[in-house]
Amino acid sequence: MKVALDSQPAEPSRENEDFAAAVPGAAVLLDGAGVAGAETGCVHGIAWFSATLGGLLLSAVSTQSTRPLVECLADSIRAVRSLHGDTCDLAHRASPTSTVVAVRAGAGVLEYLVLGDSTLLLADLDGETTAVTDQRSDEVGKRLRAPVDLLPTGSAEHVVALAEYREALTGLRNQPGGFWIAGPDPLAAEHAFTGTAPVESLTSVTLLSDGATRLVDLFELATWQDTLAAVGSVGSVGSVGSVGSVGPDGLIRRVREAEAGDPDGRRWPRGKAQDDATILHWVLA
Ligand SMILES: [Zn+2]
Repeated sequence: MKVALDSQPAEPSRENEDFAAAVPGAAVLLDGAGVAGAETGCVHGIAWFSATLGGLLLSAVSTQSTRPLVECLADSIRAVRSLHGDTCDLAHRASPTSTVVAVRAGAGVLEYLVLGDSTLLLADLDGETTAVTDQRSDEVGKRLRAPVDLLPTGSAEHVVALAEYREALTGLRNQPGGFWIAGPDPLAAEHAFTGTAPVESLTSVTLLSDGATRLVDLFELATWQDTLAAVGSVGSVGSVGSVGSVGPDGLIRRVREAEAGDPDGRRWPRGKAQDDATILHWVLA
């Protein structure tokens, strides 16, 4: 199994709330969600939540090869609950949550699961790239955040408006009319997007947190095809390592350069000037 992985916190001094890992035949990526330092009812924190859920999920998908990914995720959410139900308030409305991407290859089939706004890129032998992402939280967010985006990122007014926006968004987590995300409730797993593809039709699968997809979905400086070319595969074996391939770390560097060119979010309004960014690129052929 050939995997390239890079993960960078938003700031070098901050805890990275993304988690990504792979074992032969499976990979997961999670992006822990919440406001750093804000009350969550959990003594462990968001990075603990995403890493613990991610580790348990990777274990479940790799050791229970016939159990559907949705059930593996529900089991893992239950297992995390049992780890901190005694110490933490799991009914807290801002309890830690996380996006989830999981992929598993076995018996000629690649299974995938996507919950929340992390992205899965499937590159096939024809050179086509399919992006699987769950935009439901972004759609809800866009409705709520228009007033926030009129303010310069990092200004005092922006901080206040952003806190109000996040409070409103938090109230819509795992609610009808809101969006679904992995948190204390195993039911969220049933709302994940899932699918399959023949392994032999694919050249690579790439898992990205939203801090790493900004060049495409926020800054509009690149396409998904460009993203794959940058991380190392554009759909055929011959092109791996071609000019323009900089690997996951190089792509995250490009994101940081774009962010540095717009530190107060005037060109690209955004909640965080920089975000945790993670890319896991799995070469299949
Ligand atoms: Zn806890």
